[in-house]
Amino acid sequence: MDEKLLRKRLNRVLIFAIVISFIMVVIGFSFINITSNTLEASTQESMEAETDEYIKRLNKQIHSDYQLLNTLASMISDSKIDEASNFETILENVNEKIDFLSMIYFDLNRQGIIVTLDQEVLTDVSLDSLNEQIQTTVEASFAGKEDISNLFVGDFTKEKVFLYSVPILEEGKVTGVLAATDHVEIFADVLSGEGLLNGTGRINLIDSKGNFLVRSNNPINKEDVDSIFDSSYEGNEEHIKEYRKALKNNEKLYFSFAYQSKPYRMHLAPVGINGWYLCMVNSVQASNSLVYSIVEILAVILVIVVGLVGFILIYGYRLIRKNNKELYDLAYYDQLTGAFNFIYFQKKAQAALKEDPNGCIATINVSQFKFINEIFGREKADQFLVYMAKMMGQALKKKEFFCRESADFFYLYLKDTDYKILNQRLKDILESITNFPGASSQSYRVLLSCGAVVSDENRTVFSYDQMMTHVMFALAKAREKHQNTVWFFDAKLHEIEVLNSTIEGNMHQALENKEFKVYLQPKIDLKTHRLAGAEALVRWVRPDGSILPPAAFISLFEDNGFCAKLDLYMFEAVCQCLTFWKEKGIKEIPISVNQSKVAVYGEHYIETIQGLLEKYQVPSSLITIEILESMAMSDTADFNKILDALHKIGFKVSMDDFGSGYSSLNVLGKIDIDEMKIDKDFLKEVSEKKDSKSVMIMEEMIQLSKKLNLKTVVEGVETKENEEMIRQFGCDYAQGYYYSKPIPVDEFVQKYLRKPEEIL
Ligand code: C2E
Ligand code: MG
Ligand code: MG
Repeated sequence: MDEKLLRKRLNRVLIFAIVISFIMVVIGFSFINITSNTLEASTQESMEAETDEYIKRLNKQIHSDYQLLNTLASMISDSKIDEASNFETILENVNEKIDFLSMIYFDLNRQGIIVTLDQEVLTDVSLDSLNEQIQTTVEASFAGKEDISNLFVGDFTKEKVFLYSVPILEEGKVTGVLAATDHVEIFADVLSGEGLLNGTGRINLIDSKGNFLVRSNNPINKEDVDSIFDSSYEGNEEHIKEYRKALKNNEKLYFSFAYQSKPYRMHLAPVGINGWYLCMVNSVQASNSLVYSIVEILAVILVIVVGLVGFILIYGYRLIRKNNKELYDLAYYDQLTGAFNFIYFQKKAQAALKEDPNGCIATINVSQFKFINEIFGREKADQFLVYMAKMMGQALKKKEFFCRESADFFYLYLKDTDYKILNQRLKDILESITNFPGASSQSYRVLLSCGAVVSDENRTVFSYDQMMTHVMFALAKAREKHQNTVWFFDAKLHEIEVLNSTIEGNMHQALENKEFKVYLQPKIDLKTHRLAGAEALVRWVRPDGSILPPAAFISLFEDNGFCAKLDLYMFEAVCQCLTFWKEKGIKEIPISVNQSKVAVYGEHYIETIQGLLEKYQVPSSLITIEILESMAMSDTADFNKILDALHKIGFKVSMDDFGSGYSSLNVLGKIDIDEMKIDKDFLKEVSEKKDSKSVMIMEEMIQLSKKLNLKTVVEGVETKENEEMIRQFGCDYAQGYYYSKPIPVDEFVQKYLRKPEEIL
């Protein structure tokens, strides 16, 4: 396939495949994206829901602790505690039951009692002396509020604790503050949800600075750090920034991050107490492992499929192009010279002529290439062919091309139509090829023949097939010249050649098929005005009914020798005719038969015609042999020998077409003929010109013949005047259309021989 066409088609397929792959990728990734987004949304939703749930739990825990303290506070208020010892006992009893770490009571003077589990009761403890967190929280309760502190390290327990405090009210007035400390771990129970996000999530309680208050058992949380910002997985600065902002503004926050190449989601939500936050971390893969795995596998499959398709496409594309190029080279290029081969030339030439009917096809051929192979040796002969191709290639103009058809056969397609230009260009090519440097050592001059045919809108337009046929004829002509020749195909000449070759090709068969027919033209005695005889003239009646006149084939048959056969055939046909007439009682008249040089000088001619006379029992006196003037002129001696032989048999001999060629009156004296037929062109000239000179010559010619004792016949009598003139000149016989054209024998018999008396 044409490289361009293939590339076009492949590109189309490739683009189609790319578009389909692209659509597949888009659909695939959209699906993955939608699935991921849905998953993401559901993850975020469930994280938020769970965080809310835990916030609720925390608040519930704190609320119940407040409730406990408030109940105690009202109990303390009701019992009107004034004695410390009493109060201590109550606190100790209560604390043992409800498990606070410490319980603290402050009076309005900020003097307090601290009861700590398993430790001594401290009395008269000044609020000022205690931790700042305690002071702030307790003071809030003196102001009438329930409050909870941040974490601090307890003075006595040395553990991280926090403090609840509630006011003790008596008739609406604050009479003291009841506070209790506890481990922050009490929230751990609340937060330790193993079922958190189906076990894939972890939750941390952090303060507003990001410090961990309660950490759940998470692989990420295993790091021993105090603040969420110290975790290694929080490396992303953007996230840290967002984190800090959310913590500062008491906002929720949700983001994704990766830790040890695994995806995680983080949800931060304010608890609403002390600026605390719940920070939930969820392992995405773990939570939706199956779906994520499917999505991931899908994505991987998609990428692999797309990659594979892409690879196959590109590989296939390249492979096809490579194979095509190899096939293309094999199919369209001549392996030796690199020129196009004939198949490609044909294709290109046909296309070129279709586009523009003006152009020239030339063929160059080396004469006797087989000898070049022998003289140069095969390798050098190959080099010569390569050189030939090079020279032709160099001589080409735009849109011109050439090919090597076989061995030493090259075809060129040229755009020029001007014969002069083409002739020069082709001659130059021949010349350049002849100058093959490799030939000099052998001192062998390469001979080339070049045939060319031109298709030209202003002259003749030929089809490609016609040009290819004609160019071979032109080449054959060029070859006849035996020198570097360029020969252009000539349509008219060719027509004749084609006709001749058809005639030559059919003549033998035609003779066998009896397609050659005898036509008779009457010969009139000018004295009696009666039929004196007839001339047998051949007509070729083709199977299709068409009739070819002798002018179309006689000279060709004379050249190729076939006339010898034809003339004998005609001679025999005339004999048959005369026998037939005799048998049928038809009046026999002398018949003139035209005999060509090839026939007369043919082997055993005399014996043959003699044999025919005997065969058909025809008296020789009934046959006149017509021989052309030109024969008598060429070799008088030989000619006389023939005449002698003919005379011996008893034939009359007539010299046909006298005055048509180089007539020499001198010869008339040297040859022994019986009749002279003056050529019809002579009469034509005389009757057309009517000048006294030619009239005189004609008259003299007839007179001379008479003196030489020859009968005279004038051919081509077409008018009464013609007849009148030759009669006055003393001519014996006349022949011409004035009487009759040559007609078939039957017609002749009907017309002249049935009623001879009434002929004229
Ligand atoms: P030809 O032998 O000189 O025959 C006379 C030719 O003149 C004939 O042409 C005839 O038809 C033609 N003719 C006769 N009267 C007139 C006329 O009034 N006006 C004109 N314009 N033409 C006239 P045809 O039959 O075409 O024969 C042409 C030539 O072919 C003959 O010339 C003869 O030389 C040759 N030919 C014919 N038959 C044979 C044959 O069997 N063998 C050989 N070797 N040659 C033959
Ligand atoms: Mg004749
Ligand atoms: Mg004649």
